[in-house]
Amino acid sequence: MKSMTVSEKSEAQKSTKDLALDFGRAWEYAPSPEATDHVKIEKRYELFIGGKWVAPKSGKYFPTVSPSTEETLAEVAEANAEDVDLAVRAARRAYDGVWSRMRPEERGKYIFRIARAIQEKARELAIVETLDGGKPIKESRDVDIPLAAAHFFYHAGWADKLDYAFHGRKARPLGVAGQVIPWNFPLLMAAWKLAPALACGNTVVLKPAETTPLSALFLARIIEECELPEGVVNIVTGAGATGAAVVDHPGIDKIAFTGSTAVGKRIQAALAGSHKRLTLELGGKAANIVFADAPIDQAIEGIVNGIYFNQGHVCCAGSRLLVEESVHDVVVRKLADRIKTLRLGDPLDKNTDIGAINSKMQLDKIRELVASGEKEGAQLYQSTCPIPQKGYFFPPTFFTGASQSSRIAREEIFGPVLTVMTFRTPDEAIEKANNTMYGLSAGIWTDKGAKIFHMATRLKAGVIWGNTFNKFDPTSPFGGYKESGFGREGGRQGLSAYVELDG
Ligand code: NAP
Ligand code: MG
Repeated sequence: MKSMTVSEKSEAQKSTKDLALDFGRAWEYAPSPEATDHVKIEKRYELFIGGKWVAPKSGKYFPTVSPSTEETLAEVAEANAEDVDLAVRAARRAYDGVWSRMRPEERGKYIFRIARAIQEKARELAIVETLDGGKPIKESRDVDIPLAAAHFFYHAGWADKLDYAFHGRKARPLGVAGQVIPWNFPLLMAAWKLAPALACGNTVVLKPAETTPLSALFLARIIEECELPEGVVNIVTGAGATGAAVVDHPGIDKIAFTGSTAVGKRIQAALAGSHKRLTLELGGKAANIVFADAPIDQAIEGIVNGIYFNQGHVCCAGSRLLVEESVHDVVVRKLADRIKTLRLGDPLDKNTDIGAINSKMQLDKIRELVASGEKEGAQLYQSTCPIPQKGYFFPPTFFTGASQSSRIAREEIFGPVLTVMTFRTPDEAIEKANNTMYGLSAGIWTDKGAKIFHMATRLKAGVIWGNTFNKFDPTSPFGGYKESGFGREGGRQGLSAYVELDG
């Protein structure tokens, strides 16, 4: 074999390096789409009320669309106030007649059954989630669905141990819970809401988001197959007006809402002075803080996970990157290189890192905020990866040189867009991180454990990750400070949202 000359060798090395950075050539994989032929999506879905599938009194249906193809997947019933009333009545009957009287260990068995059934149907559920919502299959398969099952498993265990959760106080269920959830983690949010409510002995009326109703409807089928008593879980699909009808219904004892701060404020105002209990999980603008002593390459992966995971459709996304000034340039260079290698495209492809933006409306919002960043003088870095012709896609993007007062540094973009800023001292990092109306999460990257603890006690955020980001576990309470809402979901703390305590 002919040996290479030194100049030939360096030429070969150079071209390998260039190719590695050239998204779409060296890193291109053969397509690897998940098969969908075993998943049966009906043409039309009715409402799940009182254990039966019933046509809506409204007589109306709306299409649910796949954001990656813009094709209609199914027609879904639109519940009006009359439908919501039927659902609340069914939930009340189930509460009074069966669920609140059932021995807790029996309730626990039903919840275990749901968890097992989610595991058995994990592949189908992951595909439905990806088709309806646009997130990459590797995320719905490896994150959303296993975590949804884990939440049911965890809370099944609590059902007959509530007396131990509240230190000598007796826990009683609240009654009928109305639950309204968003489109970014449709099945997982349903699990976060349903599992603790059921474990504590409440019955439920759940309203999924308009753009992602399908996985909740598949869950309704699972609940039917698990033979939960009729009316314990009712699922009413529809848009904002359906959610408002749930919130306003006088027969509801507790509202649990996850969504935007604007709608959360409206709900809080609507419930003022009523008997209804309320928990709100709202928006965020989390700071991901990178110190100069951090392992930079690991931090880059954490930053990427923090903001580009699920197209940035994550309430606790690390959307503000605070970098210690001395490592700013190296972090920016490495991040610019890294985003070129993220694969954007068909969410059903197992190699896809970044899937579709959930809706045209959300895509327009992201574009508008990115345009505002450019207009306000920040420097834009964006992957030049190919964008599919059909569907709603936005390339991974970040800004440097943005001022703290700019819109991209203050407003929740809820897309794959990061705003990079700098700091010089831990105090300045804390001040900048807390300089937001939100307080859902934060991340700290440093070599020093003591620095993590020092920062964590002073950051006003409900969840703080140290040398990692976007890690979730049902045993760990999740929730916000300030305008990110109140109340916790998960862990022992999350149970208290669904019980009245005696004594
Ligand atoms: P959204 O517009 O507030 O919607 C959330 C849910 O509320 C949807 O089911 C929505 O129905 C419904 N809704 C809309 N108007 C309503 C009203 N007046 N009364 C009652 N319900 C109403 O939020 P989104 O844009 O779908 O979701 C993104 C937001 O959720 C982001 O701000 C994100 O940060 C937040 N989020 C927070 C968490 C958390 O745990 N803190 C988790 C996930 C998401 P339609 O779908 O039909 O509009
Ligand atoms: Mg959809």
